[in-house]
Amino acid sequence: MLSKYCWKGSMLFRDLAVNFGKKILMKRRSGNQSMLSMRNSSLSITVDLEDWYHIPSVCGSSFSVYKDVNEFFEKWNKRYDYLSEPTRKILDILDEFNITATFFVVADVADHYPGLIELVSERGHEIACHGADHACCIDPRTKEPLTSIEEFEATTLKAKKILERISGQEVIGYRAPNAFVAGWMLDSLEKIGFKYDSSVTVNSLYNKSGSPLKGVSSIPYYPAPGSLEPTKNRNFVEFPWAYYDMGIKIPTSGGPMLRFLGSHLIYKGLKQSLSRGHTIFYFHPIDISTEKFPAIGNGRPLYWILKGKIVEKRIRYVLKNLDNVDKIPLRDLLGNDYGIRD
Ligand SMILES: [Zn+2]
Repeated sequence: MLSKYCWKGSMLFRDLAVNFGKKILMKRRSGNQSMLSMRNSSLSITVDLEDWYHIPSVCGSSFSVYKDVNEFFEKWNKRYDYLSEPTRKILDILDEFNITATFFVVADVADHYPGLIELVSERGHEIACHGADHACCIDPRTKEPLTSIEEFEATTLKAKKILERISGQEVIGYRAPNAFVAGWMLDSLEKIGFKYDSSVTVNSLYNKSGSPLKGVSSIPYYPAPGSLEPTKNRNFVEFPWAYYDMGIKIPTSGGPMLRFLGSHLIYKGLKQSLSRGHTIFYFHPIDISTEKFPAIGNGRPLYWILKGKIVEKRIRYVLKNLDNVDKIPLRDLLGNDYGIRD
């Protein structure tokens, strides 16, 4: 139980993360001057491992070109892999900044990209689950479930097992495909052995969840059963995304916003979120791909108008400017390996 680790609310998490961050730093950089510098909060760098056809306009939503990834592979006879090369580049960037990240992996990557998940795992990163095939679990418009609870649990457990078999790691983290998340999904995740989710985002531009998110900010919290609202204690944690509150709340955890808003606003939002507590930054390897993706799916040319070198520069800008903040993979905040213990 997390409660054993003296975490009795999301505000306390911040202090624990600081203490824990110091422990990690001491362990990893013993003798290094940088261990002496005090951090206010820690940051988790998260990477969503998915390819261009996983997005909802191409596969896995009510408005996609192909019903799901299976149908895509049945019908698509051209090149599909635009993921492997930028993933290798991301791994090099993470090494360059001495970062251990959390990779949220779509499980069907295991079928179509031999060796890629193994490579990410061998390079020391956490493997977490980003769904079986990136299909939305709730309707993007109505937020109603697109699957039964039993089906969601069976499919997600299968995805977890595939990722565990390939990586040799216990997979305890989940991010909802396209971040469309609901409280019932977290209950199922807990039931099938996950310990945390990182999908919820509070902002003034959109709400991809089926919940008003009244008591949620950018700091980790215990979600109440059947809900995404915070409660006092639970053996399951939500790591919500960052935002910049400038009167209205702008989503600044990264992803498409890093492509559309640029690095400066994202950086400011991450800084502000760090002042609140532990913070999430995320991006996709395909965000830095310099290749032209196949032009299918509604709105796709516009969606990918900004990517490649410019986004790689933005990622580097953020990482460089947050170089003095501890970077901790999400599993390490939960007592696995380097647990939060007193
Ligand atoms: Zn995704």
